[in-house]
Amino acid sequence: MTAVTLTERSPGRRGDAFLSVQDLHVSFSTEDGVVKAVNGLSFEVERGTTLGIVGESGSGKSVTNLAILGLHSKEHTEISGEIWYGDTELVGAPGKTLERLRGNRIAMIFQDPLTALSPYHTIGKQISEVYRKHKGASKNESRDRAIEMLQRVGIPNPKVRVDDYPHHFSGGMRQRAMIAMALVCDPDLLIADEPTTALDVTVQAQILDLLKDLQQDFGTSIILITHDLGVVARTAHNVMVMYAGRAVERGTALEVLGTPRHPYAWGLLSSIPRLSSPVDVPLKPVRGTPPSLLNLPSGCPFHPRCDYPQLAGPELCFNDRPELSPETGHGDACYLTLKQKQEIFAKIKENL
Ligand code: SF4
Repeated sequence: MTAVTLTERSPGRRGDAFLSVQDLHVSFSTEDGVVKAVNGLSFEVERGTTLGIVGESGSGKSVTNLAILGLHSKEHTEISGEIWYGDTELVGAPGKTLERLRGNRIAMIFQDPLTALSPYHTIGKQISEVYRKHKGASKNESRDRAIEMLQRVGIPNPKVRVDDYPHHFSGGMRQRAMIAMALVCDPDLLIADEPTTALDVTVQAQILDLLKDLQQDFGTSIILITHDLGVVARTAHNVMVMYAGRAVERGTALEVLGTPRHPYAWGLLSSIPRLSSPVDVPLKPVRGTPPSLLNLPSGCPFHPRCDYPQLAGPELCFNDRPELSPETGHGDACYLTLKQKQEIFAKIKENL
């Protein structure tokens, strides 16, 4: 877990979205029933910016991104809504279109490079194969490109290390190699799913700084999926907090992390361990457990874990699902008034 330190970043040019997700629903048929993993999610990613998506396991973060990549099995998954990548709509796109985009225009890095990299092929071969496949480059050109990318991500002596196998690399180097593979075709969008969770804090900071540098060089947009608000504070321009397959808060990093408005976001912030806290003070997790996606609660899906329905109006909280409002800018899905949110968070902040 990384400490939350906020710095102002440009939220990106408005209206410059090149990835637009509209009313996305993703559900899976299982023996126990239908798992509703994403339930009416809409968001946009602007060119050259980072969107941090935060939430607990099961909030729908990874499922959303697998939908963007078209990686859900058609057999057991039902997807509706629209995902626009430029002028191409991805939900209804043929497999060939998605294949052409994946690894080329849209790339992904995973939490554990050991499962993403093949142990049987050299690092250089794995990077150069991606380049050959999508760019039609020759063997030599692809190898040169792999060396160039390894150098760019800070692998020392890349002309030699290009012939190493993944097990020859440390965890941090493997993550760098995976970033090199993801960026080899200069994609427009990089989806990074918990890219630093398996790394120690120093290497984590290096990898996050590397992603920021590469974003500046390549102009890549990044969707960063994480449960770590410290990681988001360090890298994201914009933030979306997800709960039960929906966005419950979104805005710039400064807005969402500096003046959060949703009780779930308050819970996430309060649960971060702080260096200044006495060692005998226990951590404050968000109470309760995430809802079953087989049987979502009525009304506001957060109500069984929320301390404020009495204040906001129990009838509303228990029966009517709040929508994200306002439609643009810093928005949240909660019935408390803005004044109530500000007053409650001011008190919470005193104890952070
Ligand atoms: Fe809590 Fe009600 Fe707000 Fe939901 S709408 S977060 S239950 S106060």
